[in-house]
Amino acid sequence: MIRTQSEPGLPRRGLMLILSSPSGAGKTTLTRMLLQTKELDLTLSISVTTRSRRSSEVDGIHYTFISKKQFEALRDAGELLEWAEVHGNFYGTPREPVEKVLAQGRDVLFDIDYQGTQQVRQAVGSDVVTIFILPPSIAELRSRLERRAEDPPDVIARRLDNARNEIRRWTQYDYVLINADLQSTFDDLHAILTAERRRATRAQQGISAFVEKLLANR
Ligand code: 5GP
Repeated sequence: MIRTQSEPGLPRRGLMLILSSPSGAGKTTLTRMLLQTKELDLTLSISVTTRSRRSSEVDGIHYTFISKKQFEALRDAGELLEWAEVHGNFYGTPREPVEKVLAQGRDVLFDIDYQGTQQVRQAVGSDVVTIFILPPSIAELRSRLERRAEDPPDVIARRLDNARNEIRRWTQYDYVLINADLQSTFDDLHAILTAERRRATRAQQGISAFVEKLLANR
């Protein structure tokens, strides 16, 4: 059981926690575990996609499923914080919901690929924390994709091909975790988030006010 330390109560800027990995490395499960940990108070950014909905997915919860025409309209109107073509489909992050959560000093979790990660980092800079999840082996990745049994064999084959290319992108991330064991990867994610929230630069205003008060009392 991991110890959850409550926030010290100082106001800070919200951060953007980006998780990337090839499909099948366990990122969806880890995302769910993070969201279910209520005291972390993370809000998931729900992407729009032109991919067809899997039977296990709910529109508006896992993704907002839209047509290519709708996607292009959002993109051209500048309403996407980032977007990319992945495995032949378009994916993008609606800008407004993210900005609303950040403005409250709360954190947003993103499940996006390396192309989107690069764009967000360029757009936002220091309030981004990026984590790459690696599978323990390609054999394990394949068996996870097959076990999921939600995609036809040709789609699984394409995802495995793309996985090799995606794995090479690990160098652009702040943290890299090898997901051999879900619970210990989750514990690592939790620890990273806790440490990043404590960064002095993020809580500068709150800390300044606290220190002034601290020093005012003799
Ligand atoms: P899937 O089709 O398996 O749900 O997702 C395929 C890939 O697209 C995953 O690596 C996922 O992280 C990425 N992805 C999902 N949403 C977005 C998004 O809004 N932007 C970008 N750039 N990638 C996304």
